[in-house]
Amino acid sequence: MNLLLIGPPGAGKGTQAVRLRDRLGIAHLSAGDMLREEVRLATPLGRAAQVTMERGELVPDDLVGKMVEGRLELPECSPGFVLDGYPRNLAQADRLARYLGGKGRRLDRVLVIQVPTEELLGRLTGRRVCGGCGAGYHVRHQPPRAEGTCDRCGGSLLQRKDDGEGVVRGRLQVYESQTRPLLEHYRGSGLLREIDGLGTLDEVTGRIAGALEEAGG
Ligand code: AMP
Repeated sequence: MNLLLIGPPGAGKGTQAVRLRDRLGIAHLSAGDMLREEVRLATPLGRAAQVTMERGELVPDDLVGKMVEGRLELPECSPGFVLDGYPRNLAQADRLARYLGGKGRRLDRVLVIQVPTEELLGRLTGRRVCGGCGAGYHVRHQPPRAEGTCDRCGGSLLQRKDDGEGVVRGRLQVYESQTRPLLEHYRGSGLLREIDGLGTLDEVTGRIAGALEEAGG
């Protein structure tokens, strides 16, 4: 099954995508995770993308498109994939359609996770990540046992540069202006299903499972 997961930053796309990967045995491709890995490794792509990402703006379509298509070529994607955070604008959606069409593949479902803006702000600005092992926390919803310290490895908890309030507001605006138009685009093709992203992780997972049942998942 080939899926797209769309939603504003903080909607829970990454968490739900991992659950879909495990349940359906498909590959999880997160454009943001892939870009952060390129930055960490200081590759030419990572160096070109870093400042744009720290500002919360979109990295050029061509760079992201080539990176994602490179991953879609790999055997791990032959049972299917869940794309998380790509496409993020209409040009990327067109590029993806051309790419998949050229390979004789198609999308089965496009899921959009909807969460009100005030809730997103709280989720994102409270997010912390361990500088040592990468474990995720939240100051209110999932605090570590000792403030600022990872339960797993004792590393220091950090805030992603793009999770500060100013940048978060900018990222939400980028979603509204550039990504939201994708909803109309995919609604037209009949693939779109809207998922209420409020509630527990399990509740959201249950709603996603319901939306996929009719797609044969
Ligand atoms: P995310 O982890 O999905 O919030 O992505 C983090 C950052 O990576 C975004 O704010 C963008 O700078 C960049 N990024 C992720 N996906 C894309 C994409 N499809 N197109 C352009 N930039 C992206």
